[in-house]
Formats: sequence, structure tokens, C-alpha cells
Amino acid sequence: MIWLLDDNHRFCLACAAIDKVDSTTLVCDECGSKQDPVQYNSLYSFGADCVEYGQLYREMYERDKANGNASSRYSLPPFDQLLIFAGVSAISGIIGNLAYDTIKAAIQKIVKSAKKDDSKQNDLFSIQFLRKEQNIDVFIDNINLYLQGLPGVDPAVKAAIAEEQIVHEMQRMAALRKKPLATEELLDPVLMQKAFKKAIISLNKRRAIRPTKKQFKQVLSLLKNLNSHQD
Ligand SMILES: [Zn+2]
Repeated sequence: MIWLLDDNHRFCLACAAIDKVDSTTLVCDECGSKQDPVQYNSLYSFGADCVEYGQLYREMYERDKANGNASSRYSLPPFDQLLIFAGVSAISGIIGNLAYDTIKAAIQKIVKSAKKDDSKQNDLFSIQFLRKEQNIDVFIDNINLYLQGLPGVDPAVKAAIAEEQIVHEMQRMAALRKKPLATEELLDPVLMQKAFKKAIISLNKRRAIRPTKKQFKQVLSLLKNLNSHQD
């Protein structure tokens, strides 16, 4: 499960409390409800996907391009998991046509749950980045564009993101069969092409099991609730 690899932040899908869910029992201290791990993971991995490729990689590739360097590839540094919760809130709000201010308020609530650290306000990989209102605007816009398939984004940037996703899928598949990609595999163009094709098929399969509208609706009602109880 993804959440065993994370930085231990928990978000209750029933009451939106942050860090109140017990990692063993999955019960929320705040509202007493038990998280459904399947639902949690499907929302979480979809949110992570949107944040990773729609926001983080895209920003990096666009910065590169602006600097006249379109060929570098990255391994992203670990990023705050709270960004994923902000992403899930943005997706739910966008899919449910929620008022922009409501989405923003939900994200701000998540941001405020973290200790303020001014030194990280410009760090794309930190939740502190979303303390600035204009960065929230960009974040929501980027997630929205990613959900639509990145229309209008530079084709070179789009291609770099797609390639990144396929390479990650190849790594994920290698990790699942507990066998790293062998050097002879990496050097053999025919084998590489085969692995590439398999990864594309696997990626499409995983994308087909994205969270249902019902699941987003649940998050959505949470967000509305959050907004009406804002202090
Ligand atoms: Zn709860």
C-alpha cells in the first residue's frame, strides 16, 4: 500500500481531520470512523499522480525549457504528502464544479495544519509553497489542466512527462517482480522496446481504475463541510 511508504500524514476521508487516523486500526481519533483502505489508496494514488506529473514534473520541465535545456530527466525528491491531500481536494472540487473559493479554503486548511516554515515558501516540494495564494491558484490550474490531458502545454514538455510516467511504470513493474532491470535489458533496444510497450499497457490498466465519481463526491461533501465550519 502506498501509505506505508509515505511520510505518515493521514487524512480522514470522513471528517477531513489531519493526522488523526491510526495507522494500524485505520480508525480516526476525531470522528471514530474507519477508513476503507481500498478507497483511500485509489484516491491517494490518483491524487499523487496529478500532483507529481501535473504540478511538479511539469514545473521542472517548463523551467528547463525556459533555460534552453529540454533533455534532462529527474528523479523527484520526496515531497510533502500534504500536497497530495491538497491535490485530492483540488481534483474533487474541479470534478464537482465546486466554487473556486471553496477549493481554495479547503487547501488553505490543509496548509494550516502544517507548522509554518518561511524558509520553504518557494520550495515546490513543500506544502509551505501553498501558503502563498497565487501559488494555490497555479496549483489548482495545473491540476485542472492535467485532468484535461494538458491541452496547450508545449509538446516537448508533454512528451517528457509521458516518458517519465512510462519509465516509472517500468520501475514499478520491476519492483513488483522483485527484479531490477538488468544491464543487458537496459542496453538491448529490442528488449527495452518490449519493456516500454508492456509498461504502457500496465499504465493504461492502472489508469482505468481511477477513483469513482462517488468517491470524489464523498470528498466533495467533506470540502463543503469544511468551508461552512471555517473559523
Ligand atoms: Zn475522521
